[in-house]
Amino acid sequence: MTPWWVRNVWDIAVFWTIALLVVFVSLAIMRFTPVLNPEVESLRKREQQCTRCPLRAGCTQVVPGIGPSPAPIMIVGEAPGADEDKQGLPFVGASGQLLSRMLEAAKIDREAIWVSNVVRCRPPDNRRPEPAEIAACKMWLWEEMKLVDPLVVVALGNTPAKLLLRGKSTFKISRVVGQPQPADFLKEQGIVVPMYHPSYLLRQSEKDVQEATRIFVKVRNYVDARVHTVGVC
Ligand code: SF4
Repeated sequence: MTPWWVRNVWDIAVFWTIALLVVFVSLAIMRFTPVLNPEVESLRKREQQCTRCPLRAGCTQVVPGIGPSPAPIMIVGEAPGADEDKQGLPFVGASGQLLSRMLEAAKIDREAIWVSNVVRCRPPDNRRPEPAEIAACKMWLWEEMKLVDPLVVVALGNTPAKLLLRGKSTFKISRVVGQPQPADFLKEQGIVVPMYHPSYLLRQSEKDVQEATRIFVKVRNYVDARVHTVGVC
């Protein structure tokens, strides 16, 4: 017969093994679950329920912006594509992979920046969003921007650059690509940096991709200088 004290030692060992396992699993879950502040959580919920324009009827789900808040850099693309529509996350398809590659080469941590789009629902056949759709959806972008409070907004492609720089109908991103533009809706000395969209760069040469990466390096240097000189973020 097993002595009583052996049974007790065994019970205690089992208890502490299970307790430690619970602690380790909880810590692992916390480590890999993005912590959203309550304001971001509430904004995401409101965005996900939006039906302000006809794009919602033709897409699978609304794709809100994502990232930490505040964040020094905000990236704004045009609209979700097929992969983003399926997964509910911005920039996860081929364009998103190229974006990640350029950010990594520029030593910008994608997890430390906010990524979003001008419209949150996928337009049919990936067409450009109509002015009325942009007008309906831009309130969400402004709300995200208020929470993220970025120093630099990188506008990926003609549509976001035109919206953020209040461009006229003749606006062409090729005239301003890579040139920092002052933006009175951002904090002091905040800038908008127009860049070609990764979906366009996917069809260009590696040299063009490297040139775009150099723009991201300049963005990182600008943010680093601001953070160190005025202690922003
Ligand atoms: S595109 Fe924007 S405004 Fe239109 S339904 Fe989707 S979230 Fe709402």
